[in-house]
Amino acid sequence: MPDSVINLYSDTQTQPSAEMRQAMANAAVGDEQRGLDPTVTALQEEVAELLGKEEAVFLPSGSMCNQIAVRLHIRPLGDEMYLHRLAHPITAEAGGAAVLSGAMVMPLEGGGGMFEGEALRARMRDPSDSHEPRSRLVMVEQTTNLGGGRVWPTAKIAEVLEVAREFGLRTHLDGARLLNATVASGESAASYAAGFETAWIDFSKGLGAPVGACLAGSAELIAEARRYKQMLGGSMRQAGIVAAGARYALQHNVERLAEDHANARFLAEGLAELDGVHIDPTTVETNIVIFDVADPRTLHDNLAAAGVEMSLLEGRVRAVTHLDVDRAGVERALTAVRNALA
Ligand SMILES: *Cc1c(COP(=O)(O)O)cnc(C)c1O
Repeated sequence: MPDSVINLYSDTQTQPSAEMRQAMANAAVGDEQRGLDPTVTALQEEVAELLGKEEAVFLPSGSMCNQIAVRLHIRPLGDEMYLHRLAHPITAEAGGAAVLSGAMVMPLEGGGGMFEGEALRARMRDPSDSHEPRSRLVMVEQTTNLGGGRVWPTAKIAEVLEVAREFGLRTHLDGARLLNATVASGESAASYAAGFETAWIDFSKGLGAPVGACLAGSAELIAEARRYKQMLGGSMRQAGIVAAGARYALQHNVERLAEDHANARFLAEGLAELDGVHIDPTTVETNIVIFDVADPRTLHDNLAAAGVEMSLLEGRVRAVTHLDVDRAGVERALTAVRNALA
């Protein structure tokens, strides 16, 4: 049955492959909570190196990476954080930044889930005015999820970081799909992460591992992050079992993200040819395809009935390509959309 469903709901829908499961089954493990799991330790070292940071900490999820990062940077003293209106901590972390860190959250506007340095500058507070919150943290999402998988150009990031420097802001990179950005652009992960005090990658998205993410930064920040990990109940025991899936993914599933990007572009180009679908395929840079139709709910339900899963967000339809959907699957999805709209 699962074989007959084309699941474009998200790149979180991937199943660990037989080879990945084998690597997990064979992993050397220990007590992660005491720093004694060799596979977790190796993974943390690999990610620190990949992101060009001193250290990294393995966490159960990307959401915990964001929440711990917010806690690291935000003091519950009226500190304000700046991020795109559609960014994950605003849309999908259950309000945690407010509850766990006491953050004031200022959503920024901009196309494709990105914002201009000038949009950030326009929101900066006057530190001498005791009426105002304190400007403290800026976050960038690379690639932008609800913004359509867009890749922030390095020059645009540099503008944002320049404003951050000018105003003494802390900086955080949500790299849930950072490696999609590196494969699409040819930029290195370390160069994208440079200039951000904390950055992380997710193994459970397009990389195809079942669990986990790594948050990286200075030794000092990551030592502090380990305290919050323990506080939130994120410390684990024989976590090398899942870390081995992540290590396998880093070795085998990065370069192949290019196939997902090609499939997403193919889907977008096919959709653009259909009457009643609105999408500019040139904006599809990675594995996320967001498009508009007159009645997204009905289309979504008709597709589901035809064995094609997509998701709905803010009145739009989203399809995400990943390693469990091949070109034939994307062609089938396209045919299903054509039939559903006919
Ligand atoms: C998925 C996602 C997260 C959260 O990661 P989980 O591992 O699902 O908790 C954070 N930010 C972005 C941009 C995401 O796409």
